Amino acid sequence: MRPRQANRLGLFTAALIFVAIGAGVFYGAQRFISDANRVTHTNEVIALIGDIESAVHDSESAQRGYLLTNNVSYLADYGRSRDQLPDALTRLQDMVRDNPEQGRRAASWRIDILRRLSQMEATLGNYRLGGLAAAQRSINHEVRQASVNIHRQAEELVTAERDLLALRARSSHDSANLLRGLALLGIPLGLAVVGLVYWLLVGEIRRRASAEAASSDARRQLMVTIEKLEAHGEDLNDLSRYSGMLQSCVRSEEAIRLATQHFSRLLPEVGGTLYRIRASQDYAEEAAHWGEHALHSGAMFPLEACWALRRGQPHVHRAHAEMLGCTHLVAPALHAAPTTACIPLIAQGTQLGLLYLSSHDDAFLARQDLVETAAEQLSMALSNLELQERLRIQSIREPLTGLFNRRYLEESLARELARCERRGLPLSVMMMDLDHFKAFNDLHGHVGGDTLLSGFGQLLQKLARAEDIACRYGGEEFTLILPEADMDIARERAESIRAAVGAMRIRHMGQELPAVTVSIGVATYPRHGREGEQLIRLADEALYHAKRRGRDRVEAAAEAGGPVLHQA
Ligand code: GH3
Ligand code: MG
Ligand code: MG
Repeated sequence: MRPRQANRLGLFTAALIFVAIGAGVFYGAQRFISDANRVTHTNEVIALIGDIESAVHDSESAQRGYLLTNNVSYLADYGRSRDQLPDALTRLQDMVRDNPEQGRRAASWRIDILRRLSQMEATLGNYRLGGLAAAQRSINHEVRQASVNIHRQAEELVTAERDLLALRARSSHDSANLLRGLALLGIPLGLAVVGLVYWLLVGEIRRRASAEAASSDARRQLMVTIEKLEAHGEDLNDLSRYSGMLQSCVRSEEAIRLATQHFSRLLPEVGGTLYRIRASQDYAEEAAHWGEHALHSGAMFPLEACWALRRGQPHVHRAHAEMLGCTHLVAPALHAAPTTACIPLIAQGTQLGLLYLSSHDDAFLARQDLVETAAEQLSMALSNLELQERLRIQSIREPLTGLFNRRYLEESLARELARCERRGLPLSVMMMDLDHFKAFNDLHGHVGGDTLLSGFGQLLQKLARAEDIACRYGGEEFTLILPEADMDIARERAESIRAAVGAMRIRHMGQELPAVTVSIGVATYPRHGREGEQLIRLADEALYHAKRRGRDRVEAAAEAGGPVLHQA
């Protein structure tokens, strides 16, 4: 049964008990009053019977006195007693009307008494006519019998009334007992009912109080949940803004900077470091860090030092955990209990880096999902940017030598010329062609020729300064753009390249290939021309002259309008 139903039932029972007790008391009291009234009534009836009997007796005595003494005062007494009898008899009949048996007795008694009165009147009449003797003759057996009858009937009436009195006394006693019983039962029962109602009310109040407490608890929890949802919504907004911006990054460094800002916003109390894995896939190197670390990690470490990188999945190390920690972490101070998390940056099955987080408590782990999602977005962005970078390099580099291709040469020559023109600086262009390469190919095969071309490409790369642009122009012809270099410097550089090629030793299929030579033509802006195309043509012409003049030599372009300089 539910508490509310039990309460209702309890209160209903309590009311019922009270009503029953009240009804019992009312009934008992009514019965008691009615019994008392009846006792009074019976006593009145008995008294009236006594009065009537006395009046009959008095009238007989007074009549006898008058007959014997002829004293009229007796006659007056006789008259008084006789006169009151009819009314008294009528009253008696009225009083016993509710009891048919007594009614019959009273009626018969009345007849006998009235007959007796008539007899006495007759005796008095005889007395007046014939004196005492005549009167005494009229007092016969019948007259005496009538007196005895009257007395007997009076006794019967009184006996019947006394029986009724006894009956009513018993009933009155029963009523008193009922009232006493009700009082005896009613007090404890009433107390018990009051106790029950009190207990039910207290229970109800308690239930309400606890329901109210539970509801305010629920309200509090709801508020907390709403706050969490709001925070979560903000986090998701942040995440979507971050991932949108990541997609617009054009360089890995930019993506890492963006991720750094995002992580420091997402986990303000946590220290973090982003590592990138070197192209050689052997070491992780620090790329960025933020916040204060609770436990520091090395700036560079082999991949095996990190469990996350070994297993390719996040590795969380809680304070005091028995688990093995990563060895790239510096041992914590004696009483420090930092929590650390290593999250690998993996995309397309390739490990690109690592996100390392540390804090003095593990509260930040509640946001691990968000952190992992952000790390995943970063991994994807880095992977895309690397791919783009590779594609860009592929589109501007030439695979055999690793040098820039001709398309890139043309673009960058125009750009560098404009830059030098703006700054009033010179720029030189070198055209190079390996000597007798056809014969070399014939002798060592096309693959041997390729090996030589590749070796020459590496040499050129090594000899070029950071601002130089080394290109494979086509076949075994190469171009070097030297921004800010005038003719003298360019010639000097050309000579050193020529010397280096002569000294270059290359091994192919376990054999050292014979040494080769190179011929070089040089043209300089603004001395020989202003246009890139023109400079390349002039340098190529100078190269042609170098070939004509015996190869393995450097030639400068002819001065504008003037003869080509021939130099050994
Ligand atoms: P010269 O000293 O006059 O320059 O003589 P040469 O034999 O080098 O003549 P030329 O420059 O005309 O010959 C170019 C040769 O280079 C022709 C071709 O077989 C070879 N060659 C061009 N491109 C490649 C290449 O990619 N790989 C190889 N192995 N050989 C190439
Ligand atoms: Mg050639
Ligand atoms: Mg050649």
